[in-house]
Amino acid sequence: MIRTRFAPSPTGYLHIGGARTALFSWAYARKHGGKFVLRIEDTDLERSTAQSTQAILDSMAWLGLDYDEGPFYQMQRLARYHEVAEQLLRSDKAYYCYASKEELDAMREQQRAAGLKPRYDGRWRDSRQTPPAGVKPVVRLKSPQEGEVTFSDLVKGDITVANSELDDLVLLRADGVPTYNFGVMIDDLDMNITHVIRGDDHVNNTPRQINILKALGAPLPQYAHVPMILGPDGERLSKRHGAVSVMQYREDGYLPEALINYLARLGWSHGDEEIFSREQLVEWFDLSSINRSPGKFNPEKLQWLNQQYLKMADSARLAELVAPFLEENGCNTSAPGLPDLPNVVNLLKERATTVAELADAAVYFFRPLEPAQELKAQHFTPEARPVILELREKFAAVEWESHAIHDAIKAAASASGMKMPKIAMPLRVMVTGTAQTPSINAVLEVLGREETLKRMDDQLT
Ligand code: GLU
Repeated sequence: MIRTRFAPSPTGYLHIGGARTALFSWAYARKHGGKFVLRIEDTDLERSTAQSTQAILDSMAWLGLDYDEGPFYQMQRLARYHEVAEQLLRSDKAYYCYASKEELDAMREQQRAAGLKPRYDGRWRDSRQTPPAGVKPVVRLKSPQEGEVTFSDLVKGDITVANSELDDLVLLRADGVPTYNFGVMIDDLDMNITHVIRGDDHVNNTPRQINILKALGAPLPQYAHVPMILGPDGERLSKRHGAVSVMQYREDGYLPEALINYLARLGWSHGDEEIFSREQLVEWFDLSSINRSPGKFNPEKLQWLNQQYLKMADSARLAELVAPFLEENGCNTSAPGLPDLPNVVNLLKERATTVAELADAAVYFFRPLEPAQELKAQHFTPEARPVILELREKFAAVEWESHAIHDAIKAAASASGMKMPKIAMPLRVMVTGTAQTPSINAVLEVLGREETLKRMDDQLT
């Protein structure tokens, strides 16, 4: 059975790159009827926080990336790492190293001065020295010194690294906490991960992990290293490029399905398909279609996709998403007598690119906005005033339905020899406080007769 995992370090929010890695691992497991495991790699004690863990869990829930097992926490598995380290020590595949930080710094300094690449020189590898008193050792792998490590990456192809390039990496730190390479490897092994799908910033770690697995005589998983995401300027995507946290997109009013669709297309493709559902992604997803070159993050494209998803979204669901934004904008959307929010959303969703924008456009339905003086001066002409007054009377009696409202406006305008916009514009400005709305008859229908008349009266006095 295919088993994949996502193994974030809780040292910050879940960012776009991490979410895409999670998505690919998730999609691969789902496609093959396998299992997707979540593992929190919290061994960086200084930088890991409970808030980050929560942000990762919230982001995954929001994106709908459900996992079958986990979350597992590495700090709850220390005993297991110690057990494996013991096993490696006993079989002479690992050893204690007592070199102090100062000593290692001096060693590297010397190597650099001699024009060499700094690497651990194996000073405790076969040492018969008596360990210094009071020093807690680290455990290092007795890495093979000859030969090479080769693996066939499902994205990058064959990769070979000479063992002479790899030094005796630390497995357990002096405080008993495993290093990333050791923890990740034991967990992937224990959790029976068949496909390690991760960012290619880890590709240099893979030969080291493979050497540990070999020392244990354990089977190797398959690897798929996904290229990084770059910003529009070609640099590695970072905060400089704007929002990179998944939760920020939620706060900015993006729909999770739009972000999922966008992330899927960023570095993976299925022909020319641009808009596809999560189900289609699962059906089509394939590691071999992951691009070998890095994807460039394009905020405009994400916004465009979000707009397409807003148009397709069910208005009742959108109303629930819009409501908190409106409340923040000082609108009480649930007070009696106010327009029905799904109807408002239905009217406005065609034009909005985010839920936040949709909410901004909906404010005037829930509280009157005073039109700017210039707008009034421009549209509320002396010729329009008597027509508007007359229309106000007609509105009291007309059937309150978009077509009937339209006909009433049109009839009033033509009776006074005016073009319809000459009346529709001042009406729009006085009722909504803005000059840009969908067709005024549709707006008035949703706003309701009573509120329309009240707003007209307020402006007419
Ligand atoms: N904790 C590592 C990270 O966040 C996981 C890398 C991996 O997937 O092996 O980068």
